[in-house]
Amino acid sequence: MRLYRSVFTASGLALLMMLPSCGGSTPDPPPPTAAPDERADYLVGQMTLDEKLHLVHGGAAFDWGGQLLPRGAGGWIPGISRLNIPDLYFADGSVGVGVRANAGQATALPSSIASAASWDLAEAAKYGQVIGAEMRAFGLNVNLGGNVNLTGREPRDGRTFETKGEDPFLAGSITAAHLKAIQDQHVIAGIKHYGFNDQESGRGTADVQIDDRSARESDLLAFEISVKDSNVQSVMCSYNLVNGTYACENPYLLNTVLKNDWGFTGFVMSDWDATHSTVTAALNGLDQEQPENIYFDSALKQAVQSGQVPQSRLDDMVHRILRAMFASGLFDHPLTIHAIDAAGDAAIAQEMEEHGAVLLKNTGVLPLGTTLASIAVIGSHADVAVLSGGGSAQVQPVGSAALIEGKPCPPCWSPAIWDPSSPLNAIRAKVPGASVQYNDGTDAAAAAALAASSSVAIIFVSQWESEGMDVPSLNFTDVIRLGSTTSSAPPIDQDALVAAVATVNPNTIVVMENGGAEVMPWLGSVRAVLEAWYPGQRGGEAIASILFGDVNPSGKLPMTFPASITDLPRPVIAQPPDDTTPFPVDYTVDGFNVGYKWYDSHGLTPLFPFGFGLSYSTFSITNPQLTATTSGSSPGFQVSFDLENTGFRAGAEVAQVYLELPASTGESKRLVGWQKISLTEGRQQMGSVQVNASDSSHPLSYWDVATHAWVVASGTYAVYLGNSSRNLTTVGTFQIP
Ligand code: BGC
Repeated sequence: MRLYRSVFTASGLALLMMLPSCGGSTPDPPPPTAAPDERADYLVGQMTLDEKLHLVHGGAAFDWGGQLLPRGAGGWIPGISRLNIPDLYFADGSVGVGVRANAGQATALPSSIASAASWDLAEAAKYGQVIGAEMRAFGLNVNLGGNVNLTGREPRDGRTFETKGEDPFLAGSITAAHLKAIQDQHVIAGIKHYGFNDQESGRGTADVQIDDRSARESDLLAFEISVKDSNVQSVMCSYNLVNGTYACENPYLLNTVLKNDWGFTGFVMSDWDATHSTVTAALNGLDQEQPENIYFDSALKQAVQSGQVPQSRLDDMVHRILRAMFASGLFDHPLTIHAIDAAGDAAIAQEMEEHGAVLLKNTGVLPLGTTLASIAVIGSHADVAVLSGGGSAQVQPVGSAALIEGKPCPPCWSPAIWDPSSPLNAIRAKVPGASVQYNDGTDAAAAAALAASSSVAIIFVSQWESEGMDVPSLNFTDVIRLGSTTSSAPPIDQDALVAAVATVNPNTIVVMENGGAEVMPWLGSVRAVLEAWYPGQRGGEAIASILFGDVNPSGKLPMTFPASITDLPRPVIAQPPDDTTPFPVDYTVDGFNVGYKWYDSHGLTPLFPFGFGLSYSTFSITNPQLTATTSGSSPGFQVSFDLENTGFRAGAEVAQVYLELPASTGESKRLVGWQKISLTEGRQQMGSVQVNASDSSHPLSYWDVATHAWVVASGTYAVYLGNSSRNLTTVGTFQIP
């Protein structure tokens, strides 16, 4: 007997696909309480070769042009009803759920870089919970969102807004909190792009050159922490090559590091069309081709039948996918499509932005008083909207985009979308008695005239980023075509706009909507700067709450803001010679010294250091104590301290602990722990941070290439405590013999 299923293909035609069934008597399936491995093994034992092959590749390609896969998914594998295997619906979701082709509107959360800037794992869990819950509401069950590529490698990367910053420990911990919360909703979470996919220029042919130790201690460490701390069930390998081999067929990345050294039990899927071979990819660790079936359908069948790929390897691929489905609850918690909790999720979006926005400068102008006579609000469509990031992470926001601008080229594949949240209205609501007027910023002279006649000027500057491109500079001079619906309209020089406004109004405040670091040539002439990131669909309300002091900012930079792009490890982004020839991207320059470690080890002064962020209150960290500890046979230490809110408002401070390994290791300081503490004014609390050598972040170790292991070095360790990577005091030292 044959069973037929209806399958939609990329061309939109319904085809009939044949899934043969087995005959004969079958053993009873294990109960739902059985271990995922046992349940997966049982099903693998029931499956025909064709059924197995059916699970290891996508059902059809998603097309940006509007072609719909069911449920607005970005990838789809129809289930196998004979065995009650549910459909897999894959959807993006770094900053909210990426429902495709107008199939639904999701909550546009602030960029996940804002979640990292909160340094708050409980808030990060709420962020993941919104994504997981909305995935289920849309009937989607595999999330493709956990982008943990390190922004410190290339801050001009067009995807920095999707990432969690430059430090493996912070990025890995925040990502793990997102992933855990997504999987708690019975959705398979995903982590990507594994690995070293840190620039978009030539991402399909970029060949990252890096040594084993540098790899383990930087980009791979962020993945290791996320994978181990979250039990994430899927990993997406990236487009680029690493040391001459494509990531999706790279035995070092997939077999040696991920599956062997880290013990990853889930499955590896390719990034969309990042599979390059059948036998090599299958043998080297790729478990699922996405979104099509070029290499892992009939070609893989042939390879298995001819023995080039052992049957046991195909069984392992299928086992991993089924195991992930069982472990995440896909069998036991079937999807039911329903409305999202738009109001509840929007409230979390606002809360996340209020925790993640970073106050970079304030010479006393903020928070604004409610008795101000007049305010000029300038630029970036602040009358109606806030900016969002583009590419596959793009969310179609609840309430519809306020504006859709152009189709900037590059990346030439998606327009810039402005989320429907009006900073202007939110500001007006805070000061009903004031005259609050808007100027769009397209004419610097007109903007300056309004600013000159206002008590305060709030100027919004924005830089659009997207997958498929890198930003040409860390200035607000290019890329975004404000007010334009064509790609050819000239960009506005927003740096010049700020300078013009600041010249005439001594109370100029800049609010930045962008995905990562900026160099801010006008910094000295303005009184305050708020880094709002892409603030999500309640961004206007969150920004106004911070500007007027209803919320005391507590975000800290998850990435260094350099003084100049000439200070970057690679001042010029390596460019592909053509579309097909691999070209080197040299990571041996910075090695394991990513982000602040680069600036520290080279004596460079950043514009704003990693970990920096101001509050409307002041805090003192006193009485630091260092205690050596052991956990089992693992050495460690505890730092305790008193944190006092010495200002006049309730607020929160992030106490950060950094560790310097013995000089023989050649390592500079690394973040090993932090504690974010909220305190009302005048209150004091004891804080403590525990660090164990056995933690997934290997805080006391370096990667020893000779023994292929993390090694705790002998010698003197120095411990620092403070509120940024550049504002630290020594707590003490300890020896490891
Ligand atoms: C991106 C992935 C994304 C996939 C599916 C690719 O272009 O690199 O991050 O998950 O598309 O949309």
